[in-house]
Amino acid sequence: MILTAQADHSLSYSSHCLKLAIPFMVKYKMPITPLNYALWYCYVSEKNQDLNKELDSIIKKYKTCDHEQAKRLFNKYLSKDDLNLFYQLSSGFNDVVGKVHQDINEALAYSAEFNQALQECRETLNKADISQESGFDDVLDCVERLSDESAALQSRAQDFQNQLAMAYSEITELKQELVRSRSKAEKDPLTGLYNRGKFDEDITRFCQTNDLAEVAVLTMVDIDHFKQFNDTFGHQKGDQVLRAVSAKLLKHVSSVGQAYRYGGEEFCFTAQFASISDMTNFTQQLRQAVTKLQIKDPNSNKVLSQVTASFGIAIKAKNSNPEQLIAKADKALYLAKEHGRNRIEIVEE
Ligand code: GH3
Ligand code: MG
Ligand code: MG
Repeated sequence: MILTAQADHSLSYSSHCLKLAIPFMVKYKMPITPLNYALWYCYVSEKNQDLNKELDSIIKKYKTCDHEQAKRLFNKYLSKDDLNLFYQLSSGFNDVVGKVHQDINEALAYSAEFNQALQECRETLNKADISQESGFDDVLDCVERLSDESAALQSRAQDFQNQLAMAYSEITELKQELVRSRSKAEKDPLTGLYNRGKFDEDITRFCQTNDLAEVAVLTMVDIDHFKQFNDTFGHQKGDQVLRAVSAKLLKHVSSVGQAYRYGGEEFCFTAQFASISDMTNFTQQLRQAVTKLQIKDPNSNKVLSQVTASFGIAIKAKNSNPEQLIAKADKALYLAKEHGRNRIEIVEE
């Protein structure tokens, strides 16, 4: 059996979403194009409530979503990377299906006993195009069935089984590629932190979460006098500082919230605490941890410079809105700079 050990949640989840997406396109008479696919995939995975609401209202009004509308929604809520991914995935998937199909044709010549199972699987595979109904599970089921059947044919079928195993791992790799690409699109390449795009997506959800028992904050972090640092030591050393500060942020924040690179030498994090004093202690500790970062000359090991950062904290109100919360955190950061840098300031909503 080659399937069970390798099957993972993301594989079955994505395949589940792909299957759910197709009936919508059929029902609303939309052509099965990668763009529509991406749109409905996003819809059924319920990743973006705004997209779902808007698509729902278009469907309610027009009983379909024409190409122009679909394109507009796509541009508004999805990225080019999403589309490329669907193109890649569907062409890669079809290649693998084609290869399995060809392998089955060759194997047909081997055995009459095997004929029946192969015929059935071939029929299924013929239909199993990503832009058609079946999706990944059908192919994987076929591969599994053929794999079991072929075991009985022992040595003759050995080659065939190897080919099926390869096809299975290719499909699995394609799915993993989908997961990897998605995560890559959310990360900042220099620091490995979540990027601004991911922040923009997450902040709305963060604002909508109401947990009265805790103090929820958005904190802006800005490295002090970073331009001067770059001018003195060069951009490469500057990049090194950005990576080091990011590593500190990640280490400290991951237990209480989520950290992002907001842009340039600015970072931010959302976090939850049991009390205001817990929150201030945490932020002071993080601030101190940043001041401990020392940039050394690799030759002499002499300390070239110390890094400091300023922190602007906005405490989230019950019914918060992202723009207001960001503006408050910006204001707090501005105050921290005004009051001398390497310090924290808090603004309540
Ligand atoms: P302040 O204490 O008021 O924040 O002063 P500052 O010098 O840190 O702020 P300013 O906005 O004047 O300069 C930010 C600098 O950050 C300028 C820019 O060159 C640098 N920077 C932004 N992104 C990067 C990056 O990716 N790598 C490096 N090395 N520098 C960057
Ligand atoms: Mg700065
Ligand atoms: Mg700045």
